[in-house]
Order: sequence, then C-alpha cells, then structure tokens
Amino acid sequence: MKTILLAGGAGYIGSHTAVELLNAGYDVIIADNYSNSSPEAVRRVEEITGKTVKTYEVDIKDTEKLEKIFQENNIDAVIHFAGLKSVGESIEKPVLYYRNNIDTTLSLLECMEKFNVNNIIFSSSATVYGEENPVPYTEDMKRGTCTNPYGWTKVMMEQILEDTAKANKNLSVVLLRYFNPIGAHESGKIGEDPKGIPNNLMPYVSQVAVGKREKLTVFGRDYDTKDGTCTRDYIHVVDLAKGHVKAVEYIFEHKGTEIFNLGTGTPYSVTEIVETFEKVNSLKVNHVYGGRRQGDLPECFANADKALKVLGWKTEKTLDDMCRDSWRWQKNNPDGYNK
Ligand code: NAD
Ligand code: UDP
Repeated sequence: MKTILLAGGAGYIGSHTAVELLNAGYDVIIADNYSNSSPEAVRRVEEITGKTVKTYEVDIKDTEKLEKIFQENNIDAVIHFAGLKSVGESIEKPVLYYRNNIDTTLSLLECMEKFNVNNIIFSSSATVYGEENPVPYTEDMKRGTCTNPYGWTKVMMEQILEDTAKANKNLSVVLLRYFNPIGAHESGKIGEDPKGIPNNLMPYVSQVAVGKREKLTVFGRDYDTKDGTCTRDYIHVVDLAKGHVKAVEYIFEHKGTEIFNLGTGTPYSVTEIVETFEKVNSLKVNHVYGGRRQGDLPECFANADKALKVLGWKTEKTLDDMCRDSWRWQKNNPDGYNK
C-alpha cells in the first residue's frame, strides 16, 4: 500500500482528495498549519471513509519540522496543496504570498531530495495561462502574464518544479492546472469553508442563499460573452479529487514533468450559475449587476483532452450536481466547520 503525503490536505481540495485516495486504498498523511482550514475537516474525512488519517500540525515552510514527517514515514509521493489562494489578498500582501507559496514548495523539494522521495503532484491553476493565450487552453501553450501575485506564485512554482525535475532525473513532477472547483462531497460533511467574506462566486452564492449575506453582486454584464457575464470552467471538487488519484497512479510510471488541465471543457456564465443554483435548489439568490472586477478575464476554460487521453480521466458530474452539492454542504453547515 502506498503512502501519500498531502501538504495542505485539510483544505477544500485536499480533504476531498483525501477521501478519494483512502477509498482507492492509499494511506494518507495530512500536514497542515490550519491557517485556512480546520482539524474538523480531517475528522470528517475519517467519518466518511471509516479510515484513519495521520496528521501533523506543521508549517510546511519549517523545513526542520517537515523533515520529521519524512523521517517517521515512508512516503511514496507528495501532493502539494499548501498555499495561500486569495487573489485580492495577494495584491495587498504580495510578500506574504511569495514567502508562503514559494517557501512551502522549496521546503518540500529539499526534504524530498534528502529522503529520496521522487514524486510530487502540484496544485497549479488555469491562471498561469495569463492574459495572452486564447481559450480553450491547452497544456502546450506558454505560461502567460498574470494580473496578480497569487498567479505569479503559481507560474514561479511551476518553473521551480520543472527546473528541479530537469536537474534530478529521478524526479517525477505532475502539474495539475485546476479550473474553477465548486461543489462538495455528496455526504454534505465536507466542503468549502472560506474565512471571512468569500471572494469566489459559489461560496458567495451559497452564503446569500443561506441568509449570511444580503445579496450577490455580479461583476460586469458587458463582456463579449453569451449573456454579457464572465464564463468559467466550473468543475465538481469530487471530479477534481478523482483526477488526483489518476495522477498518483500515473506518477509512479513516469519521470520528468507533465502538465494536465483539470476542467470540464465547458464554460458557464455567472448568470447561468445563479439560475442553475436557484432552479435545482428551489430557492432565490438575491443578486444585482455591478461593475467589472479588476483583473477578471472574460472567459476561461480548458481543453481537457490530454487528461482523458493520458490519465483516462474525465469529469462525470453536471452543473446541477455542483449546485446541489454546494447547497447541501452550506445548508447543513451554515457556519462551516465552526458550528
Ligand atoms: P485551501 O485554502 O482550502 O487549502 C490550502 C491548505 O493549505 C489549507 O488547509 C491551509 O491551512 C494550508 N496551508 C497554507 N499554507 C500553509 C503552510 N505554510 N503550511 C501548512 N499548511 C498550509 O485551498 P484549496 O481551495 O483547497 O486549494 C488548494 C491548492 O489548490 C492551493 O494551492 C490553491 O492555490 C490551488 N488552487 C485552488 C483553486 C480553487 O479555486 N480553490 C484553483 C486553482 C488552484
Ligand atoms: N463573481 C461575481 N461576483 C462575486 C464573485 C465572483 O460576479 O461576488 C464572478 C467573477 O467576476 C468571475 C466568476 O464569478 O467572473 C468566477 O469568480 P471566482 O472569483 O470564483 O473565480 P476566478 O475569477 O478566479 O476564476
């Protein structure tokens, strides 16, 4: 049985990936400083799967403490989720973002080299395609120009990982470029639990629906898109988590760096999200149309062919599933994990 270390594994995507890895028979270790998550998420992962997860409360930047985890366990592969992810906050606090996101990556690579662990899967983002590339994005496109420090940390970390794999021929790197993960586990026990006012669309919609926020402001309706609002490639977080299981299977058979888009390939507009959420959950989401949000691209969606061809992975869930599952999680846990 192989052991996978999930750095930042208590978070939204990490917790869902932990469930899928445990269900597929892997041992899972979670290392997290809970800066944007809660130990309760891990407890619920155990509840869903009936399996135990070894956890370490640790700042991944702290190489000495991280080494202890590598010393105590036989780790076969690392999945690196540990990062700060708010675009707006990264513009206000760039140093915090560069320090946290780059240093976690360097610490992991140092420990991996020391303990001869040669497989790492990295949580990258569609944001690395930047402003220049046309949609749909394919993995062979050059990384583009980002509009914020968060995006640049992803570009830089991809470069660091690629360079390290060039220098160390034993190393296998998989860069997973996520599109827009939404939804929650269908049990309603784990989901996205943003601290403070949500930046992202779906948690905001859910919090308006549950009465925690008064109304959603739709950012811009004058874009050159199907209905004037921005389009994104929304992907169910459980589909995304299953993509990680496929990437883990793949990484042991492979050396060097490989990149995969994890998206559905189908763009939906903000208005379509609001309307679908209202329809499948039989409720109303109070919303108004406002001005554009600075830095937003009109459209962003994947060409997801490579993940199908090479990993044998494709999404299975629909937009209805995403909206239904997001709402189930929100309704059952109006205050997230702090209930
Ligand atoms: P999240 O904030 O829920 O999870 C990240 C986890 O990392 C949290 O549990 C946090 O406590 C932990 N963490 C952060 N810095 C740490 C540190 N120094 N030491 C230890 N733990 C640390 O975010 P998520 O949505 O699950 O995203 C996971 C990864 O995927 C991130 O790297 C994010 O940038 C990337 N990503 C997310 C999205 C998205 O829309 N959610 C899209 C593209 C890429
Ligand atoms: N959005 C919105 N109101 C909000 C939050 C987001 O209209 O309160 C829009 C945003 O302009 C974008 C889409 O929803 O077009 C997805 O935004 P999100 O921040 O979730 O993802 P990203 O823009 O980073 O892809």
